[in-house]
Amino acid sequence: MKAIFYSKERQELIQRELQTPAPREKEVLIKTNFLVLTQRDLKNVDSENDIIPGRFFVGEVIAAGSDVKDFAPGETVSGITSFFCGSCEACKNLEYHLCENPSIPGKDVNGFFAEYITIKSDFLFKVPPEIPKEKAIFLPLIAELLAYIPEEIKPGSTGIITAGSIEDLLFNNLLLISGFVETAILSTSTRLRTFLKPDLRTHYMEEPTGLLQFFEGYGEKPDYAFDLTGNLPLLKSILQVLKPNATLFLAEKLLNEDKENIAQIWKFNIRMKNLLPIEYRISYAIKILQTHAIQPDDFITHIFNLDDYQKISKILLQEPSLIRVKM
Ligand SMILES: [Zn+2]
Repeated sequence: MKAIFYSKERQELIQRELQTPAPREKEVLIKTNFLVLTQRDLKNVDSENDIIPGRFFVGEVIAAGSDVKDFAPGETVSGITSFFCGSCEACKNLEYHLCENPSIPGKDVNGFFAEYITIKSDFLFKVPPEIPKEKAIFLPLIAELLAYIPEEIKPGSTGIITAGSIEDLLFNNLLLISGFVETAILSTSTRLRTFLKPDLRTHYMEEPTGLLQFFEGYGEKPDYAFDLTGNLPLLKSILQVLKPNATLFLAEKLLNEDKENIAQIWKFNIRMKNLLPIEYRISYAIKILQTHAIQPDDFITHIFNLDDYQKISKILLQEPSLIRVKM
C-alpha cells in the first residue's frame, strides 16, 4: 500500500510502499477514504524521524481484531485526534479527556496519510450514514476544536480569537453557533482574511488597536480570549482588550517561560481545555453537521488525490490551507 511520510529534514512529503498492516486484537483495519490536512499537521511534527502525518480521516472498516466488538466490516468510521494512554489516574477513572499522557497521531505516533491504517477501536467512532464522507471528514476536526469552547456560555458572551490557520476560522463559526454574540479575530496573516465570508471580514484585524475600536463600538470588553497560535506578542496584545475577569483559553502549547510570563500578567482564569468528555464533543460535532449549522466545505482551500502529495506539501508549507485529500 502507499503511505505518505513527512521528512522534517527535507521539508517535504515522500511516498513509500509499505505492507498493508494486520489488525491486532484490539485494533481495526481501515481503508481510508478521505483526509483533511492543515498547516498544523506539518508544523506540529516534533519527530526528527520521518512520520506519517494527518490526524483527520474517514474510512471504511475492512477487518477487526478478535477483541473488537463494536465495529464490523463495511462500516464508515472516523477517529479522535488525541489517543489517551489508558493507564494514568484520569484514564483509570474513565476520564479519558483528562488523560495526562496522550499521544497525537501525526506528531507522536504515525498519522493517517496512508491507504490502510490500523487503529485501536477505543479511538474510533461511527459516522452516521446520512452524513456523506466528504463532509464527515470534518467531524474529527470539529470535535477537536470543541475542546476549546467553554462548557457554559453566559448569554451575550463575546470573545477574541488569535488565529493562524484556516481551522481557526472554523473555530470562530463554532463560537458563534454555540452562543457567542460577537467575536473578533486577530491574526498576522493577510491571506487568512480572504477565506472569511464577506460579512465576517470586518471582524478580522491585523492590528490589536483595531480590536480596541471594535469592542468600543460594541460597548463591552470581551469575556473570553482564545489563543490558537502560541504567538506570545499576539497573545499579550489581546490581554489589553479583555474584561478584567475574562477567561483565557490557551489552545496551543506555549513554551514554559512564555507560560510563566502570561501567568504573571494574567491573574484571572487561564485554561488549556474545557472538561467536556470526548463522546459529548463527537455527538455535538455530528449534530452540527446533521443540522447544517456549519457548511464545512466553505473552509476547504484545495482538493487533491493521494498521488498529489508533492503539491500538497508545497501548499501546506506556503500558505493558509485546508486540503481535502481523496485517498
Ligand atoms: Zn491516560
